[in-house]
Amino acid sequence: MSKQDSFSEMLDEVRVFHEKHQFSQTGGEDMAYRVALMAEELGEISACVTKGKPTEMLAEECADLMILLLGNAISKDFDLNQAFWGKMEKISKRNSRMIDGRIRVSNFEGSDEANQ
Ligand SMILES: [Mg+2]
Repeated sequence: MSKQDSFSEMLDEVRVFHEKHQFSQTGGEDMAYRVALMAEELGEISACVTKGKPTEMLAEECADLMILLLGNAISKDFDLNQAFWGKMEKISKRNSRMIDGRIRVSNFEGSDEANQ
C-alpha cells in the first residue's frame, strides 16, 4: 500500500499540520469552530455542484472537508478508522428505498435496527 492510500499516514499528516499551527493551544481544535469550518467547506462543495465547477475543484473542496474530518479525530481523540469500518458494517445491512426518484439507505420504520 502506498503512503497516499494509508489512512494512518493521512492522519499523521493532519496531526503534523495541527502541531505546526499549535491548534490545540490556539482554538483550532475547538469543535464549535470546527463545525463552522466544515459548514464553510460544505458550502464550497455545494457551489462547485450548483455552479458546474470543474471536477478538480470539487475534489479539492472534498479534500478540505476530509482534512477537517480527520482533524476532528485528532481534536477529540477518537479512532476514526474504527468508526468508519464500524459504520460501514452497520449501513451495509440497511435496506434502501426509492424516495422521490432517489435512493435512500436508512433505518426505515419497522426495520430491525430502527426497533433497537
Ligand atoms: Mg475549501
